[in-house]
Amino acid sequence: TDAYIAAVESSRPLNAFITETPEIARDMAKKSDARIADGSAGAMEGMPIGMKDLFCTEGTLTTAASHILDGFKPQYESTISKNLWDAGAVMLGKMNLDEFAMGSANITSYYGNVVNPWKREGDDTDLVPGGSSGGSSAAVAAHSVIAATGTDTGGSIRQPAAFTGIVGFKPTYGRCSRWGVVAFASSLDQAGPMTRDVRDSAIMLGAMAGHDPKDSTSADIAVPDFEAALTGDVKGLRIGIPKEYRMDGMPAEIEKIWDQGIAWLKDAGAEIVEVSLPHTKYALPAYYIIAPAEASSNLARYDGVRYGLREEGKDLIEMYENTRAAGFGAEVKRRVLIGTYVLSAGYYDAYYLKAQRVRSRIVDDFKKAWNSCDLLLTPATPSAAFGAGENQDDPLAMYLNDVFTVPASLAGLPGIAVPAGLDSKGLPLGLQLLGRPFDEETVLRGAHVLE
Ligand code: GLN
Repeated sequence: TDAYIAAVESSRPLNAFITETPEIARDMAKKSDARIADGSAGAMEGMPIGMKDLFCTEGTLTTAASHILDGFKPQYESTISKNLWDAGAVMLGKMNLDEFAMGSANITSYYGNVVNPWKREGDDTDLVPGGSSGGSSAAVAAHSVIAATGTDTGGSIRQPAAFTGIVGFKPTYGRCSRWGVVAFASSLDQAGPMTRDVRDSAIMLGAMAGHDPKDSTSADIAVPDFEAALTGDVKGLRIGIPKEYRMDGMPAEIEKIWDQGIAWLKDAGAEIVEVSLPHTKYALPAYYIIAPAEASSNLARYDGVRYGLREEGKDLIEMYENTRAAGFGAEVKRRVLIGTYVLSAGYYDAYYLKAQRVRSRIVDDFKKAWNSCDLLLTPATPSAAFGAGENQDDPLAMYLNDVFTVPASLAGLPGIAVPAGLDSKGLPLGLQLLGRPFDEETVLRGAHVLE
């Protein structure tokens, strides 16, 4: 733990942490020592990790990277963080992210951008670590934490994992409790592990997962021994290649790693089948209606009364307005505006309801695909990490980052991003494996062969 605390300090230029908690870490580590000594060690005993600053941690500042939560110290612990501490993990601090997890580059945090530890060969430009779990991904890649938690609403675990050359696993919706996780879009939000390899991912997911009566969407399904799923064998597994993911204008390097991944799985004995997910192209627009709609509702609670920041006004309404105007950043305001618009009486049917119908079609597409395959293999992202200035003023270009990750989010499926090699500039690229609901074991088994 001391070595990791030193690594956290020396990686400060990455801005991966919002709050460092070295005293808490040392205290937790001592307790780990005692448990190891008396033979009661948990699955993650003594492992120093980072906690995305979207998880409420009792008595420790929890910001969601937003000004509006200034000074908020929860009086309760999220179920996920509690599960991890119960398994023996040690908290090094709270990780930076996009404000309220809205973004794909970790450039919307009130606490500043996170820097990707990777650089293009011969080029010193700072690159983004992906988002929204960008502090988590940068810190895992920089070895300043052993692992970190992430949350994924439309890709926020998988895309930053791909941009930093690590493993990011979004389990099935309902596998991990959302209790005590600051809500973005409740029907999509799902927590998961961000780790350096697939084995760590399996171990950490085992510690995080489980039924929680405090979250009504948490699934009452037994947590298997995920590590036991890493058999190293994919013989006879059918891997579906969704043809709609071969998009026009897809960079040749992305095609190349995809083909490489297909070849690796085939060589390992898997059967490759082409499948069709015909509604894929509607996933992104549907997501960017549903997610902001839910966000606008979830974020209504930040009113200057219940949490953090308050800006005075001449009456209650003006106080609300001043607080929200000062407390939310531009991207959050954009989402709240889109969300309230698509939910408003005149537009609900045209936008929100239609997006929900599209979502059902996407769910059906996947259901049909599972008749002919056990896993789906796709690229994790349409590009490698980009510069902090790129895409910044173009929300649509930014939203395109999520094109490969969003469909599985809408369908609630487990999806993992695994590092698959480097592009011609020396940057990591990731592959994505998707599986059937609650079949994380097969996803991990496939990913283990790919890594
Ligand atoms: N990039 C997507 C968005 O901005 C996904 C974010 C997430 O998964 N939290 O909504």
